[in-house]
Amino acid sequence: MAMPAPALAASGAVAAPARRFDWSRPFCPTRLAEWVAGRTGPAEADAPVRCTVVVQSAWNAHAPGPGVYAVEIPDRIRRALLCMPRVARDAGASVGLRPSSRAISLDQLPSYLAGVHQPEYIQRLLAEAAVSAESPGSLASGDLYLSPGTPTGVGAALGTLLDAVDLAAARGRSPVPLAARDAARQHLLARSADVSPAPGPEGPAELAATFALVRPPGHHCTHAAPMGFCFFNNAVAAARHAFTRHGIEHIAIIDFDLHHGNGTQDLVVDINQKRALDPEAPPRLFFGSLHDIKSYPCELYDAAAIFSASICLMDHDHALWNVHLQPWADFGEFLGHYDGQYRALLTQAAHFLAGCPPDRSLIIVSAGFDAHELEYPSIQRQGRRLPAEFYYLFCRDLALLARAHTDGKMVFALEGGYSQGALANGLYSALAGLAGLGPDHATMAGPGRMARPSRPSDNP
Ligand SMILES: [Zn+2]
Repeated sequence: MAMPAPALAASGAVAAPARRFDWSRPFCPTRLAEWVAGRTGPAEADAPVRCTVVVQSAWNAHAPGPGVYAVEIPDRIRRALLCMPRVARDAGASVGLRPSSRAISLDQLPSYLAGVHQPEYIQRLLAEAAVSAESPGSLASGDLYLSPGTPTGVGAALGTLLDAVDLAAARGRSPVPLAARDAARQHLLARSADVSPAPGPEGPAELAATFALVRPPGHHCTHAAPMGFCFFNNAVAAARHAFTRHGIEHIAIIDFDLHHGNGTQDLVVDINQKRALDPEAPPRLFFGSLHDIKSYPCELYDAAAIFSASICLMDHDHALWNVHLQPWADFGEFLGHYDGQYRALLTQAAHFLAGCPPDRSLIIVSAGFDAHELEYPSIQRQGRRLPAEFYYLFCRDLALLARAHTDGKMVFALEGGYSQGALANGLYSALAGLAGLGPDHATMAGPGRMARPSRPSDNP
């Protein structure tokens, strides 16, 4: 589906889009999408789109009631989208934006979430939402609230996510040429977090990424328990849809966030266990996570949570790789961590995907921006601040991974990220990496530290 065309003026000529998006009016994702389409020109079908941001139309349905304090609020979507005018200017038509009006109804939720969440859990949650305006008392754990709009909100989030999967699957039907695949593989294995432009042959058919800007997040939610703002597990629901609707059997779920995606990992272990017993049954999954081991759900010294968030196991039909964020004193030290532990996550994902047919493989990214250096101090209680450039570098390398192994198919789902600074700056850097922009666009502020990185070896 093409983006809406720019509005026609009274004379019949195409009206030039306003230079600046009018943020003073009540925020509407559809209006912003129309403005972006007008700024970036050709319709999606004709343009070299590398990534489309898909945003839910019912973005404000799930909201805390009066007197309920929460940082997971509807305004997160607007805060993230604040970067889109800059993205439109810098990336042009290579990044699109479109609202999704697809909503999964209450009746449909159990079938779309079959195998991910127990039907009884779904029914209980929806029943609680109808009568509760605060924490779901019978469903455990803090950091959760329900509202009468919650069923609409989670249905819209799931519908948006499925739209993002369908769009990536449709765009990724063109095989990436073997030579381009090999070049991407070589670059991924060999290169370090340097400042050179994105290497290798690039083309519109070689990246088919979508970024589902959805809330509430999902990666803490297990089979039958909501946790940490999360009610349904978005990443695993997307994997299920990719398998049942598109026959995609090999899926690498990569999670970057301040917090460990414990719910996703639990579900991946279960699904791979079932696959070990019945190879015909569910998809085969990899889960790799980059997170802070001292933050939730590990901050209360729960030994099981800490061990779970530290497992690296690529055998016995399991494929798990957990990496802990490291403190850094200067940018050179950060680059050392990036070249070492952080990129190892992508290397393990590449091992998992190697040998799988690209047309039946997919990367799903649980993308959180709460480890960003501009996140609220109340979220960054452990001071584990990632430089803005991380999101550019990691997404640039994820694009190589997709080009090498999945015919470019990759679906992002928003996880954490709460302050305006973290969301807008994090999303900008991620999209700049996916769009193949050079390091001058690593952050909204420009090249910054990428212009003069000190290598670890430079430091005495
Ligand atoms: Zn988080």
